[in-house]
Amino acid sequence: MYTIITENDESAWADKTGFLYHFPKKYLKHLEPGTNIIYYKGSLKKKAFSKTRLSDYPHYFGIAKIGKTYLDKESSKNDFFATITDFIPFREAVLAKDDSKYLETIPESRKSNYWRDGVRAIDENTYHLIVSKTNLIKVSEQKTAYISDAITENYQDSLESFSEGKKSKRYVTTYERNPKYREQAIAIHGNSCSACGFNFGDFYESYAEGFIHVHHIVPVSEFEVPKEIDPETDLIPLCANCHSVVHRKKDKTLSIVETKNLIADNSNQKT
Ligand SMILES: [Zn+2]
Ligand SMILES: [Zn+2]
Repeated sequence: MYTIITENDESAWADKTGFLYHFPKKYLKHLEPGTNIIYYKGSLKKKAFSKTRLSDYPHYFGIAKIGKTYLDKESSKNDFFATITDFIPFREAVLAKDDSKYLETIPESRKSNYWRDGVRAIDENTYHLIVSKTNLIKVSEQKTAYISDAITENYQDSLESFSEGKKSKRYVTTYERNPKYREQAIAIHGNSCSACGFNFGDFYESYAEGFIHVHHIVPVSEFEVPKEIDPETDLIPLCANCHSVVHRKKDKTLSIVETKNLIADNSNQKT
């Protein structure tokens, strides 16, 4: 599946490019897990945003894939959000209109309102036509795998550091600190501690609102092969206390259940 997603300069949606994408339910069918997406922006509306964009004109600015989709518990309108994987920004804008012709095919019946839809299914040819206007490099026989020449070096680097020893620990902390996985995990699990329920915003008010640690729940010793992280199953929010306790012993990382049991045992003694 191939889909265009629109990002607005100013928006009520808590979107983060390459991390998360919020959308109304009607677009769910175009954003199934694994869908190849192209990021799009319409024409500039407010001058102040000009410097944050690749072009003032309607344009495409990156590719990515849909990770998973979730019902947005924060939304009153039953909206959804998707985690985004494999984001590669374009270095230059790809204009929506090339030599007075649109790159997207607009069906006759949709001529008057086509651009109103922020999420638009496209065919495979249109996807590759848009991507062919950039300097991305195809990396596999699979037609949809691309890599940016700018990030090839980093990619090699990360593969190498993985093949050395002491890799696992580094990777675990990298995932725990990576802002993309943090945002995704918090969107999915919320920002209260999964072990004790502590919420920084409730306790310390707005000064600490949204503060939480994100813990990687695969034990360090079992973490051997590089894989794409799944923020739903691999990451969990923990308060600073519980996170310290979980990592207290170097040779063993406590599971969330074990941590919860410690807390329960302790409170039982008191009652
Ligand atoms: Zn806690
Ligand atoms: Zn941790």
